Order: sequence, then structure tokens, then C-alpha cells
Amino acid sequence: MQNEYQLVINGAQVAGANGTFEVMNPATEQPVTVAAEASPAQLDEAVAAARQAFQSWQHTSNEERKQILHRIADRIEANAAELAQIITQEQGKPLFLAEVEVGGAVAWTRYTADLEIPVKVIEDSENKRIEAHHKPLGVVGSITPWNWPLMIAIWHIMPALRTGNTVVCKPSSFTPINTIRLIELINEEVPAGVVNIVTGESGIGSAISSHPDINKIVFTGSTPTGQRIMSSAAANLKRLTLELGGNDAAIVLPDADVDKIAEPIFQTAFLNMGQTCAALKRLYVHDDLYEPLCAKLTEIANAQTLGNGMNDGITFGPVTNKAQLNLVRELVDDARAQGARILCGGEPQAGEGFFYPPTIVADVSNGHRIVDEEQFGPVLPVIRYSDVDEALKMANAAEVGLGGSIWSSDIEKAQQLAQQLECGTAWINGHAEVLPHAPFGGCKMSGFGVEFGEEGLLEYTSMQVVNINK
Ligand code: NAD
Repeated sequence: MQNEYQLVINGAQVAGANGTFEVMNPATEQPVTVAAEASPAQLDEAVAAARQAFQSWQHTSNEERKQILHRIADRIEANAAELAQIITQEQGKPLFLAEVEVGGAVAWTRYTADLEIPVKVIEDSENKRIEAHHKPLGVVGSITPWNWPLMIAIWHIMPALRTGNTVVCKPSSFTPINTIRLIELINEEVPAGVVNIVTGESGIGSAISSHPDINKIVFTGSTPTGQRIMSSAAANLKRLTLELGGNDAAIVLPDADVDKIAEPIFQTAFLNMGQTCAALKRLYVHDDLYEPLCAKLTEIANAQTLGNGMNDGITFGPVTNKAQLNLVRELVDDARAQGARILCGGEPQAGEGFFYPPTIVADVSNGHRIVDEEQFGPVLPVIRYSDVDEALKMANAAEVGLGGSIWSSDIEKAQQLAQQLECGTAWINGHAEVLPHAPFGGCKMSGFGVEFGEEGLLEYTSMQVVNINK
């Protein structure tokens, strides 16, 4: 890694007017590099550059923008090894998983490049033709979290560019470097000002939400921050896509096959050390399968190899920051104090790094903090039930509704139940699977708007109806 990473404003690399801030490696607790701390005035410059660039970028042809997005994908691919190493060093996930993240970034960019912006003919009669077109919104502000930082930046930026918008990004200050590198690479392909990045916490996030020259915000992060963004976005009626926190429930029916489901349940609960918005976060298991499934999950958890994600053979990295580690520790300690059985893990690993082993917590229920609150870390509470209606009620008791799942050998019955889950995506015999062609988003306090597919693309546009009297 370089010693310092700068802002990109109007196609140029710029030092932060407020100096720099350190970026830490969660596996070593050592600084890995410094990033530029932007001032609010630099945000204004970035927005002005994006506004200026929008004048011509919005008129580029669909074909041209498709080609540019494919060239960006080529550049990401050519720099994949560097990007993956950066992600592991600032975010903590094992290198193989960081490589998956970069691969996903490429795939999503190419898929988005090839999407068509539809023109719908509403009426075509003898004297009249009415068409619905989709026009870009203007300047899009992208605010991203630290868990899948590169992938989520791609999810925000590519549909914005594909539809003819320009962008100002603000990544999380825990993981800014991969996104800075991404924006540098994108700037090798797009005109100056089309994509800009401002890093730092000098009120930049809230200044983006209230900025009068930003037309839309796409935000992925926690529900409280989403609420703040929504209230400050009101002044100029910014369009919003809010992908917020979740606390996904999974219900295991008595006819499920424990040997088949244990591994996918473990993997989707502990994906990225559990720091995944749509990870499985509450597991409701029927009495008949409760002990065997708990035992199997514990066996899989105990087989993980914890350590610095840059080292060979590591399957489980650190938690990305101290605050998140402390939250996980607090929730597990609270459950233990309430009489929960900690089947494995349950204590942070001694020594350097924010390591917390995969932890399975049994004999808990709704009403325990570890079940009611989003843990966003390497712990899975397992809740026993005997009546499926009761399980459904407990699953739907959360204020949030991002994803949910039913695990069963009876697909028809599973589907009936899945459709009663209050969430944006209901999986059957799976969880946390997001795909470029399937719209994804939350309901209730998990936000609104979707990403991906045509529906996700059109969130970056406003409809213009053209009414022609022949
Ligand atoms: P966070 O809300 O703390 O921060 C997200 C981003 O918002 C950061 O870049 C931060 O600097 C910025 N920010 C902070 N205060 C702001 C303000 N007042 N105005 C504007 N921006 C501000 O979230 P996090 O801790 O980085 O991420 C974890 C959360 O994100 C979890 O709740 C997780 O479920 C959620 N998440 C959701 C999805 C999804 O698709 N629904 C995906 C990933 C993560």
C-alpha cells in the first residue's frame, strides 16, 4: 500500500484540506496507511465538479456508457490482486473472500453495463402516442459502510453511471482505501468530474445529505444514520435509496435435513464474520432438530481457523473495528448472564487484533438482546420453537425486515411460510444470496428502494412521460 491516499475531485488527486486520518488493520491493530481528511469546502468542490460533468455525461449514448462500464470492469480485473489485498488489510476478511468481493465487483459492473433502460409505450393509437422515458437525476451522493466496501461502492456507482448521472462518494472511514483506488481506476475511463471521492468524518456524510446540489442519495449503513439522512434530505426532496440494517430470521422446519442444512446455515450466518447486512442473524429451530443442529453448527464453528486474513489457510478473520467487537462481546455476555448456553466461542481472543471466534448461543429467545438487536458480528443465537405459527410471529416481531428464510424438505409448504415473512427477500433453503439480476432491498425499518436488476437501475432515474398528439 502507498503511504497516503488522496481525494479525487474533478479528475485530479487532491490532498485533504483537513489533513489525514489513519486507517487501521483490524488483524494487527496497526495503522496501514493514511487517507485524506476532506473539508466541507472540498465536498462543495466535488459536487460542483459532478454538476458540471453532468452537463455532458447525461448526453452520452447508452452504447458509449456501456462500453465505458466494461472498460472499468477490465481495469478492476487487471488490478484485482491489489484491491483484494487492500480490502483484507483494512477490513479484515480472509484474502479468498476479498477476492470474491473483487470478482463480484467485476461481475456487477458488467451486468449493469449491459442493462437496457426501457422505454415503455403506454398508448399508440391513431392520433396519439404516449411513451415513458427514464432520465438521469443529476448528482448522486453515495455513502457506504465498512463491511463489503468495494462491492457496495460498485452497487451504488455503476447504475448511477449507466443511467447518466454523476457521482460523489463517501466511503466509511474504517475502509476508505479500496474505494479510493476504485475511483482512481474509474477516473482512467470517465471524463473529469463524473466520479469524485471525498473521505473523512468532518461532517462530510451529513453535508452530503443536506447538500442542495445533490439530487439523490444512495446509502447503505445503519438504520439510525439512514433516519438522519432522510430528515436532512428533505430540503431539496432528494431521491433516496436506503439499504439499512437487518436482523434476518431463519426458521428450520421439523422435516429439514440437518446434515444438509448445517453448512449453508453456518456459512450464511457467519459470512464475513457475520458482518453482512443480509446474514442470517436469528435461527429458529424446531424442537425435534434443535440439539442435533446446534451440535452440528458447533462442530463447524470449531473447525474454523482464526487469524490474519493475509495468511494462508485462514477461514475466519477479525471483526472490522473495536466498537463492533465490543457490541458482540456485550451481547454474548448479556445472554450468558441471562442463562444462555454458549456452545462455542464466547470470548474475544487474547492478543493483538479484534478477533472473536464464531459463537453459537443456545437457549435464548425473543426478549434477549442478542436476539432482538442486530449483532452484525460472529455470533448466532439459536431459538427453540415447537409451534411454527409461534416461530413466524417471533421472526416477524423485529422492527427491521431485510431478509428471511425457511429451511425444509417440503418446498411448497416452505414457500407458503416464506411469503408470510415480513422482509424484502425470502429465501428457501438458503440465505444472504444477492444477485445482480434479482432486486434486493428491505421493508419496515430496513429501508426502502431496491438495488439490482432493471428495478434497481431505474431508481437512478426520473420518469418523463412524452405525450404526442399526432
Ligand atoms: P453507519 O451507518 O455507521 O455508517 C455508514 C456510512 O454512513 C459511513 O460512511 C459513515 O461515515 C456515514 N455516516 C455516519 N453518520 C452520517 C450522517 N449523519 N450522515 C450521513 N452519513 C453518515 O453503518 P456501518 O456501521 O458502517 O455499517 C453497518 C450497518 O450497515 C449495519 O446496520 C448493516 O446491517 C448495515 N448494512 C446494510 C446493508 C443493506 O444492504 N441493507 C448492507 C451492508 C450494511
